[in-house]
Amino acid sequence: MPKQPLPRTPEWPPRSAPRLFVDQHLGLEAQVVIEGPQAHYLGRVMRMGQGDVVILCDNLTGEWAACVSQTGKRAIHLDVTEHLRGREEVPDLWLCPALIKKDRFDMVLEKATELGVARISPLITRRCVADKLNADRARTIVTEAAEQCARTALPPVDAPVKLDAYLRSMPDDRTLFFADELGGEPAARAFAAKAPPAAILIGPEGGFDDTERALIREHPNAKPISLGPRILRAETAAIAAIALWMGAAGDWRG
Ligand code: SAM
Repeated sequence: MPKQPLPRTPEWPPRSAPRLFVDQHLGLEAQVVIEGPQAHYLGRVMRMGQGDVVILCDNLTGEWAACVSQTGKRAIHLDVTEHLRGREEVPDLWLCPALIKKDRFDMVLEKATELGVARISPLITRRCVADKLNADRARTIVTEAAEQCARTALPPVDAPVKLDAYLRSMPDDRTLFFADELGGEPAARAFAAKAPPAAILIGPEGGFDDTERALIREHPNAKPISLGPRILRAETAAIAAIALWMGAAGDWRG
């Protein structure tokens, strides 16, 4: 008689368990109360009930499994039961994108988080159409992106600063890859030749003006790079540059 295969051990924690960042230092047996939109998401959207598992992150200690102990109209109570993994090491790449229109900048924040940057430092340049960033909204976007892609470390998003001030503050040991549509070393080659720490500078919709371009090129850490023969939208350039850097010098190298 053919042998029956053994029943498979259920996956723990279930792959479908929702992931959430919380503003609380987590530890074994900690009790967490989720309120507001996160409670709505767990209770109404995911229909979590007593005993269901949620994965929690605190951006400090990594990832934890927690069980729903109580559900209410406004709050969901959870008990932390197990440490799943520590906070990850993120490759030391900063993205320095000039501010662009809101929807497109939201995309830069989301994709840069998914692709693995360590920090996002928005810049104000002469041709920027915006000079402000809603810090709460930016934090929500990077947090949701991190939850979606299972990052345990959130990239800080700095307040926007003017390009010249930012260049003066750049640490001596960090290579500043300057994405210049007018030409530079092919990006993949330049990235592979320089170990982290690194930063990638991307211009706004209208690009950098000549004075800014000269100022950047004078900077001792600057390395002009090309992202190919076509002029990319600023958000495409940011996403393409990060992906190339991750493959050449980051944690996509295997
Ligand atoms: N000045 C341009 C114009 O209006 O024709 C467009 C600037 S482009 C939309 C925005 C930014 O993306 C540039 O400042 C640059 O940082 C980056 N970029 C776009 N295409 C690029 C390329 N082929 N190589 C390097 N950087 C590029």
